[in-house]
Amino acid sequence: MRYVSTRGEAPAVGFVDAVLSGLAPDGGLYVPETWPSFSREEIAGFRGKPYAHVAAEVLARFAGEEIARDVVDTMCAEAYATFAHAAVVPLVQIAPDAFLAELFHGPSLAFKDVAMQLLARLYEHILAGQNRTQTILCATSGDTGGAAVEAFRGRDHVRVCVLFPEGRISEVQRRFMTTAAEPNVRCVSVQGTFDDCQAIVKAAFQDKSLRQAVDLTGVNSINFARIVAQSVYYFTTAVALGAPERPVSFSVPSGNFGDAFAGFVARQMGLPIARIVVATNSNDILARAFEEGRYARGDVAATQSPAMDIQSASNFERLYFEAVRREALETARAFTAFNEAGRIDIPPQAHAFMRELFAGVAVSEDETTRTLVATLNETGELIDPHTAVGAAAMRRAGPVEAPMVVLSTAHAAKFPEAVSAATGVTPGLPRWAQSLADQPERFDRLPADAEAIKACVRAFAES
Ligand SMILES: *Cc1c(COP(=O)(O)O)cnc(C)c1O
Repeated sequence: MRYVSTRGEAPAVGFVDAVLSGLAPDGGLYVPETWPSFSREEIAGFRGKPYAHVAAEVLARFAGEEIARDVVDTMCAEAYATFAHAAVVPLVQIAPDAFLAELFHGPSLAFKDVAMQLLARLYEHILAGQNRTQTILCATSGDTGGAAVEAFRGRDHVRVCVLFPEGRISEVQRRFMTTAAEPNVRCVSVQGTFDDCQAIVKAAFQDKSLRQAVDLTGVNSINFARIVAQSVYYFTTAVALGAPERPVSFSVPSGNFGDAFAGFVARQMGLPIARIVVATNSNDILARAFEEGRYARGDVAATQSPAMDIQSASNFERLYFEAVRREALETARAFTAFNEAGRIDIPPQAHAFMRELFAGVAVSEDETTRTLVATLNETGELIDPHTAVGAAAMRRAGPVEAPMVVLSTAHAAKFPEAVSAATGVTPGLPRWAQSLADQPERFDRLPADAEAIKACVRAFAES
């Protein structure tokens, strides 16, 4: 399997290079040259199979010859053995034809574990083979950092340095990062905002001497391996609800559009998905793109669902590329213009292509709170604010001809303040995570200064 850039100016690469490089050298995103697919019989055959089995079937299609099948099987088995639920991604019914797919049973209680646990094993396998050690530098608004630390702690060929904005993440989120005692983990509390953290990461990647000295890499949501890993739960949940004989729909709390795009990937592979509702909070760039045909940046507002406080959804470029019939020139033009002017007018045909599968719904803070309360009253389920955005969007999108699955992207206990303010109930951590509160924390505090943080990364890599 070869991977091409959405902007068409970079040479095609294999799976391993696509995974390690993240962004293509022309600034585009890697996508497979052709979409692999499963037959109806193969999809039907997933029903009742262990999650890790389906994950291995999916990953093997994308990794092709580059990773031996027995290695793929072992990676998937190990990655999903870290989840605290035997089904890995269990379904919970919330209405006659609506379900939650609980993606939060991994080690950091957020859906990012699903991809990060697999990605860590991919990195370790690839880098061990190349006798190489890389340094992951990532900025987090809360969940990515915890998932990365949990996945990469104690590994031999990867160090991980996480930057988080001081005072702007929840205590639970912070503790998932700062209680890791392994020497290959370094956390930095940056005296600034998430945008400051991201700008510092960007500056570090642009510093060629640092990049080479510490062999810098990123694990953000544009990494195609993460998308592959996320397409798996579309298969497992849909077959449990009657696919491929019956189509299934999804409502996806969205920020960077990685999760919802993974649903598009599953459909390209043959899974009958009737509709994907892209649910946003008041940072509604994606909802407006699907509803109005204009992809235009707005100001970022802080909400109860901070992992979705984003006004530029990196993975949208992958869908755009498909929607303009893989015209790399047009994709490059559109996204270069977006970087400058903050806006793309989606061509009508491309917009129609998107609307065939996707609908966008923006959910207000008030509606999020009301949905949290209503879900608790109607079902007894305490959901988190991100999941509440998905559930509210499902209600508003109206009836569909298929069972609807809301992707439940975080455990309520990861956002205890917001959940308790809405419902009066303080969600407790699962038993296995309760020791988090007693463990010592370890992190550096630095000003939002790129030079100071680059020096810290260099010292960390040399230690
Ligand atoms: C990252 C995240 C999202 C958004 O996912 P995208 O792939 O960026 O669209 C939603 N909910 C939670 C809890 C997250 O951590």
